[in-house]
Amino acid sequence: MVGHGVIQRYRKFLPVSDETCIISLNEGNTPLIESFNLVQALGGGFRMFVKYEGLNPTASFKDRGMTLAVTKAVEKGARAIVCASTGNTSASAAAYAARAGMTCLVLIPEGKISYGKMAQALIHGAKTIEIRGNFDDALELVRELGLRDDFEIVNSINPFRIQGQKTGAFEICDVLGDAPDMHFLPVGNAGNITSYWLGYREYKENGHSNSLPRMMGWQAEGAAPIVRGEPIESPETIATAIRIGNPASWDLASRASEESSGAIDCVSDEEILDAHRLLARTEGLFVEPASAAGIAGIVKSKARGEIPEGSILAVTVTGHGLKDPGIAIDNANTKSVVVESDIESVLEAIGME
Ligand SMILES: *Cc1c(COP(=O)(O)O)cnc(C)c1O
Repeated sequence: MVGHGVIQRYRKFLPVSDETCIISLNEGNTPLIESFNLVQALGGGFRMFVKYEGLNPTASFKDRGMTLAVTKAVEKGARAIVCASTGNTSASAAAYAARAGMTCLVLIPEGKISYGKMAQALIHGAKTIEIRGNFDDALELVRELGLRDDFEIVNSINPFRIQGQKTGAFEICDVLGDAPDMHFLPVGNAGNITSYWLGYREYKENGHSNSLPRMMGWQAEGAAPIVRGEPIESPETIATAIRIGNPASWDLASRASEESSGAIDCVSDEEILDAHRLLARTEGLFVEPASAAGIAGIVKSKARGEIPEGSILAVTVTGHGLKDPGIAIDNANTKSVVVESDIESVLEAIGME
């Protein structure tokens, strides 16, 4: 047993025993950063805490669930894990499989995952297959492969993924001393909103917190099946991590939003990109585009007057910006300049004498 990941820290809330061999990369315990500048830029009147999940070992929140899914796969004697992925699940699965000495098979939509995520799957030695189809098609194939005894599915249809990911809610309560009033996050396959709601409820039931947040989930406009009320055949958005037309945890996500008096709504790609840049500029926090959907949701809710005065907000930013540097360069609205190697030229380039 090694490390101090989420299973060790929250083991009494998770389905492990003293004999379980824990596969961990010391995930979790990510910073919860109070965002003063962004709140001020939006006109103030509330407090906002950013859960920076890009600082997990494979740079997304997926590690919280993957540690438990792979631990349980090993416990059961599985030799291979399989997943469909928009990129981060495969990056995480590949790393934890390497740690466990297992085979990992990943199915991804052709040409639709970011360069960084592809690099992660390949360098960790996952058998990486690009299919001519979208994420939803890939997940269908994985469901079929999972019927065989030799493959353990580690998508969020694996209940251990949801269990592991609920530790994000525990950590927020541990830092704030209670649950926030509202929790914002992006929604793709809808596993994470399900996990957070589960975590907040369990922590309250066990006397570790007194209140429950309203769960505010945000889909991308071109991939918003829950908002539209029907599956989207060909989802489209720049935020590839939430480019999903038929979420696996649809019902549970709807329940989280209803039970918590929250909402699931959508933001446009333009709003996502604005939020992506705004967070980087005002707070020094670099996230991938999908992760900015929750921030865009806060901007939108504030503009609509839907954030009560004095509220405490938490927002999960799900993955690191370096996963997709190409988008950041396009979205930066600024370029580097090339000049001669002398002081005058440098000063001239920045408009100073
Ligand atoms: C997986 C992922 C999401 C979506 O989470 P779901 O649990 O599928 O709703 C959002 N952002 C990033 C960066 C992701 O990797």
